[in-house]
This record gives sequence, C-alpha cells and structure tokens, in this order.
Amino acid sequence: MIPEPKLDHLYQEVILDHNRNPRNFRELADATQYSHGVNPLCGDDYHLYLKIDEDGTIEDVGFHGAGCAISKSSASIMTTLIKGKNEQAVKVLQENFIKFMTTDESDGKAKATVGRMALFEGVKEFPVRVKCATLIWHALRDALADYHRIKIQEHQCQITKDISSEGDEVEIRAQVTPNPNTLKFSLGRNLLESGSYDFPTSESAAASPLATKLFAVENVTGVMIGMDFVTVAKLPDKDWQVIVPDVVETLQAFAKSGENAVIVTGSDQAQSMSEAEKKIREILDNEIRPAVARDGGDIVFYSFENGIVKVHLQGSCSACPSSLLTLKAGIEHRLKQEMPEIIEVQQV
Ligand code: ZN
Repeated sequence: MIPEPKLDHLYQEVILDHNRNPRNFRELADATQYSHGVNPLCGDDYHLYLKIDEDGTIEDVGFHGAGCAISKSSASIMTTLIKGKNEQAVKVLQENFIKFMTTDESDGKAKATVGRMALFEGVKEFPVRVKCATLIWHALRDALADYHRIKIQEHQCQITKDISSEGDEVEIRAQVTPNPNTLKFSLGRNLLESGSYDFPTSESAAASPLATKLFAVENVTGVMIGMDFVTVAKLPDKDWQVIVPDVVETLQAFAKSGENAVIVTGSDQAQSMSEAEKKIREILDNEIRPAVARDGGDIVFYSFENGIVKVHLQGSCSACPSSLLTLKAGIEHRLKQEMPEIIEVQQV
C-alpha cells in the first residue's frame, strides 16, 4: 500500500480512530443489498452490505474487507452517516461526496452537504488517493442502484396486477433485461410479421407510429420493436418509476388503436436469398433469436459472403458486455456445426 499522505491534524486523528476502530465493520447476514468495491491502485478491497426496509430506510449497514487507512476510515464514517436515513437522501449524499472529491468546486456547495466527510478535503491534493476515499461510495451507489432494480421489478408486478384487474385493458408485462437502462415490454400480441426494428433516435422512428409515440415519453432514448415485444431505453440518470407508467399507458393506447407498429415499405421485404443464406436465417430464427428475445433483444441477419456471416444485435443486448461473447461463442459454434463453410460471425 502507498504511504499515507500528510494531512492536517484533525483529519489525522479522525482517520486513525476510524482505521483502528472501524464502525459497522461486519458482514450483514440479512442484507437486502450487497456490492463489492476494489481499488487496484492501492489494493483496497471491501464488501458492502445494506439492509433497506420497505419504505427505503437504511435499517442497517456493514462493510468488510481490507485496505488503507483512508479507504477504511471513509467507509467507516460513511456507514455512520447513512444508517437510519432514507435511500433517497443517501443517494444525494453519495452524489455530493463524489462531486466534492472529484471537482474543484469554488462555491463549497457540495462540501457543505457531506458532514464529517468534509474532513477528506486534504486528500484531494493527492489525486491517486482520491480513489481510496471514494471507493466505498462507489460501492454504495452500486448497492442503491441494485435496490432500485428490485423496486422496479416490484413496480412492474404491481402495474401488471393493476392492468390485469381492469378487465378489458390489454395486459402489458414489463421485464428487466441485463442492461439496467432498458426494459422489455410484452404486449401479448404480435406487432410484426417478422424481423425487428431498431430506432436509436426519435428521428429514425418516423416509419413507426408506435416508436414515435414512445419517444414522446420524457427520458426515453431508444426503442426497439420485436415480433411481440418492445424494448425501451432510458437516460441512465432517470428513474424507471417515473417513466414506466407513461410507457405502459402509451402501449395500451396503441394496442387498442389497432394501428401498425411499423409501416413496412417495399425495400424491407425479403429479397431473393441464396440457399446458404436461407439456412442461416432458419437457424437464427428457430434457435437463436428466441433465446436472445428472452433478454429483450434481437438478432438481425445482414449478409453471408466468403464465409463471413454478418449479424446485428439489437435492443438490450447491444449494450450488454456479454453480448459479443455470446455472439462469437454461441452463434458461431452453432452455425459452423451445420455449415462448415462458415469461417466467422461478425457483428455489424
Ligand atoms: Zn487506499
């Protein structure tokens, strides 16, 4: 570990105290949230546990692991600041502390809101140690984001229940995907005859009455329409809670309107295909696309030339880090089994 920087007297006392005697230094057996933070620059490595109750109050918090005095005292003080607070207030504190540590704020606004953590101001003079001080706070952000993901799922269940109980309403099912910023909505009826359409911007959605309406919902940044589902992407810093109700309302109104999801033009029709292309499409359609669709995504076949298959992954999977790996390992293996002439699968 790097030697401790020289800091002012008060800070030294606090840091030594919390380092010797860290508060809430334990695993929580009944934690509802967990995250793991590692700072490879210094070797700090902590596990963070939160127990958040129904109303969003941080009932209990614990951390465990090893690291330098700065990382440990930062974690220890953090636990004393967030215990008993509401997760919304904690989220604001978390953001303010990161802002305080990583920016040169002249007005001292963030500093005024971080309580005892203001003692860490001296650490800012040692940029390599800032990561020690912020490590546990990044872990805290991850744990809170996880809490929100779970809340969204509960929220979705509630929406589904509410909708189901209204009789003639169309049942919309929302489902989480590997990407926290996209949700998959099933409408329980077919939207397209075949294929899928990706609309990464509102401008690109002109040919789709449904996507156009979804882009009108605030903070929606992307829409993908599959055969019987719609994947909606949002801005990373906005909460699903405020977006989902409008999306569901839009989808219901659409389902009742009987409009086409996408206005298909001549150029989209399947063109004459070679035997090899037909076979590739068959394997993709029958085996691979259903699996990808479960995560709210889709695969579109582009071309087959000189042994190279080009496909495009759409929807939630394109932003998911495991998608390329899945593509290479899974699809390539499967296609090669059937068609030895295939050399490689590429994503376009
Ligand atoms: Zn450290």
